[in-house]
Amino acid sequence: MGAKNNELSKSSICEFLAVCNFFEVIMPSVPQLCEKMRQNYCYGGCGKCARHAYSKLYGSQDIPDDLFPNAFLG
Ligand code: SF4
Repeated sequence: MGAKNNELSKSSICEFLAVCNFFEVIMPSVPQLCEKMRQNYCYGGCGKCARHAYSKLYGSQDIPDDLFPNAFLG
């Protein structure tokens, strides 16, 4: 049962977490807001993150620094 929970936890964490520097570069002055956004996107909602979608399409190395997770990619 513990192993299954670990698998679920890992699958909900964004695979770009180690290379995505949005919070450090753009929002270092608002750590509490960063933490809320991390919980909302990086640790369980990366499917709704614009940076995640962009990285899937173009690669995480080319992602614009100022692309917000809640941006609309039309
Ligand atoms: S901001 Fe988006 S791309 Fe970056 S780690 Fe969080 S979910 Fe992933």
